[in-house]
Amino acid sequence: MSRVFNFSAGPAVLPEEVLKQSQEEMLDWHDAGMSVMEMSHRGKAYLSIAQQAEADLRELMAVPDNYKVLFLQGGASSQFAAIPMNLLRGKSIADYINTGAWSKKAIAEAKRYCKVHLAASTEESNFTSTPQEDELSLTPGAAYVHYTPNETIGGVEFPYVPQSAEVPLVADMSSTILSRPVDVSQYGLIYAGAQKNMGPAGLTLVIVRDDLIGEVIDGTPTMFNYQTQADNDSMYNTPPTYSWYLAGLVFQWLKGKGGLEGMAEINRRKSGLLYDAIDASDFYANPVAVNSRSWMNVPFTLANAELDDKFLQLAAEQGLQTLKGHRSVGGMRASIYNAMPEEGVKALVDFMAEFERTQG
Ligand SMILES: *Cc1c(COP(=O)(O)O)cnc(C)c1O
Repeated sequence: MSRVFNFSAGPAVLPEEVLKQSQEEMLDWHDAGMSVMEMSHRGKAYLSIAQQAEADLRELMAVPDNYKVLFLQGGASSQFAAIPMNLLRGKSIADYINTGAWSKKAIAEAKRYCKVHLAASTEESNFTSTPQEDELSLTPGAAYVHYTPNETIGGVEFPYVPQSAEVPLVADMSSTILSRPVDVSQYGLIYAGAQKNMGPAGLTLVIVRDDLIGEVIDGTPTMFNYQTQADNDSMYNTPPTYSWYLAGLVFQWLKGKGGLEGMAEINRRKSGLLYDAIDASDFYANPVAVNSRSWMNVPFTLANAELDDKFLQLAAEQGLQTLKGHRSVGGMRASIYNAMPEEGVKALVDFMAEFERTQG
């Protein structure tokens, strides 16, 4: 068996320790005589798994007691609709900050339910920066302010948390959650699909302040109502049991890495290594404003795009895989989530130097 360094944007690399532990527990979880996949979600064994995962996540992110943590399905994309359904609460306007492909999808969906006010957009600069903090045009009395702290495709990350005063701040943290500490109390709602930085696909995490739930727009499906999910501990129906379990193993792995402070240090180093290599070369380039560069998704182009295919092919032969950039951006993209070991980034940087020397 040989594992490659997988730079996929999602579903993405998982910690090897976690995969091994789940392998060991595959047939017989803790003497239960069955796999976690085979357990009733209402049985004692599975409930202990689910509750431990929530407790570990709450500890890692220091989630205050007045926040619900929901383990849902439907992906971050379902939340694009669930958020207006739950958070409009009689209001008709929501503010959205448009910084890239995922913001745009969230905005398009919200427009089906409310009036969207664009508090800022970086579309004119082709989504290579974040708006200046003092340029945000926020609507007093808006239902909420939505933004995407890390744009997975553009590799653009906010260097600040927008200050929305008493208007609840909503963040799509799909590709940056758990990469560093955050102050949850600054947010009304945080959501994330699991398959970037938390676990396998199929699980969607929502962390929501409890005073914001309970009033949905007419016609909201029962399953999309946060109150339903909160009242039933995310078990109104069958939850994504195995993904929830694996995410729980990832949370424990993170605790062993020094929690989110420890992770932040590692991520700062890893991304620094890659950006330094790009900046030191005339052959590679990253288009993103330096203050808005993502720690998690690093797009880069070659000086000669005709070499793209050769780059990808030679990289793959060396075990550096899934580096092709998103079709809308072109070039390359290295996603270096928590589970990407530092050796993977070092191997990529070494390969890039060698490729430039021999082909550039
Ligand atoms: C991947 C991604 C999504 C979509 O997630 P799904 O779980 O596939 O719906 C939304 N927002 C961001 C920032 C993402 O990276």
